[in-house]
Amino acid sequence: MLKITVGFLLGIIVGLAFGPSTQFLSPFGDLFLRLLQMIIVPLIIFTLISAVNSSNPKEFGRVGVKIFIYYMLTTAVAMLVGVIVGGWFNPGVGMELTGEHIDVPEAPSLIDTLLAIVPTNIFQSIVNGDILSIVFIALIAGFVIVSMRHSAEEKINDWGNTLYNLTQAGSEVTFRILNGILQYAPIGIFAISASKIGEQGLDVLYSLVRYVGASYIGVAIQFIFVYLLLLMLFKVQIKRFFKGVWGALITAFATSSSLATLPVAIRAAEKAGIRESVSKFTLPLGAAVNSDGSAIHYGIGAIFAANVVGLDLTFASILAIVLAGTIASIGTAGVPGAGLIGLSIVLTEVGLPLEIVALTAGVNVITDMIFTTCNVTGDLVGAAVVDKSEEKYAISSYPEESNLA
Ligand code: ASP
Repeated sequence: MLKITVGFLLGIIVGLAFGPSTQFLSPFGDLFLRLLQMIIVPLIIFTLISAVNSSNPKEFGRVGVKIFIYYMLTTAVAMLVGVIVGGWFNPGVGMELTGEHIDVPEAPSLIDTLLAIVPTNIFQSIVNGDILSIVFIALIAGFVIVSMRHSAEEKINDWGNTLYNLTQAGSEVTFRILNGILQYAPIGIFAISASKIGEQGLDVLYSLVRYVGASYIGVAIQFIFVYLLLLMLFKVQIKRFFKGVWGALITAFATSSSLATLPVAIRAAEKAGIRESVSKFTLPLGAAVNSDGSAIHYGIGAIFAANVVGLDLTFASILAIVLAGTIASIGTAGVPGAGLIGLSIVLTEVGLPLEIVALTAGVNVITDMIFTTCNVTGDLVGAAVVDKSEEKYAISSYPEESNLA
């Protein structure tokens, strides 16, 4: 944890000191990202199958319902936070439209998004990295293996246990690889932050200082008034929680990819004392569908767009923005820059000018970092509060604080 923090801070200092000449470091950062991406698919498959197998169906259903409610509520609140902070900072007032042309991907309907979860070809979903479909496949496989393990027929029972053992073994292999990758994390994070800051510089900040300020303040509000409050309400040990997840937050901030951070987040949840039966189920799900930071992005972006064209928003149009943004955030991929696509979908749906996407694209590297950190924090807080709410049902108590790096 300390090493990652040092790597990150050193990266910023080196980036600021040496500017674009830090570009030679970028392959070292890319290597870290590639290593993380390399294990995401097996990690999701093995962790979800073992999560389904390590909790009873009743517990599983309860956790599923709770996390679903948590995701929906916190994302809708995040949208509101975005709209309110946007109105407060008023970015874009007095700005001119650039008239740049932007290709907007067609917004898929809710039905299409839901249907797309079911793959027509399992292997294609895996090859394409369609996270939601992979989560779906792994959950189904997990349930089937559980039912086989409880079968009265000896042969089926044996097969079920063999498959379960295989996934456990696969999970062990993946986590051992992950442990190795994490040894490289401080260098990877150093290289990413140095090359990113070196390339971008901080000058660009001044051009859109209100917008960037609103983004960081918006996330701070979500942290204090939503996450911290929820953690306190559910009596989660806040110090232990943040000590455990700190490395994942830095990774999210540096990489701007909640998906690439998923392996680190799963490890971090362990350190924060969240039971695996909850974290291994909810974190992959959260990485696929829960994006509070992106929701804040859409709220601020919509206000920005309304300001640029001098439009007064009515209550109904704010409601439409919150709705469109909440749905778009579910479909936001956990990769760098995905929020720009989501924002263009939201703006099109509510009839606001798209040029804002191009206007803010220049600072997106800086805002993406904080929005991604918020996305990952939202997933981890969800896992922690649902885990805490399940404590009364748990047979085993909290695992001892792990000393994993
Ligand atoms: N980059 C963000 C993430 O990975 C998504 C976004 O761009 O809003 O979570």
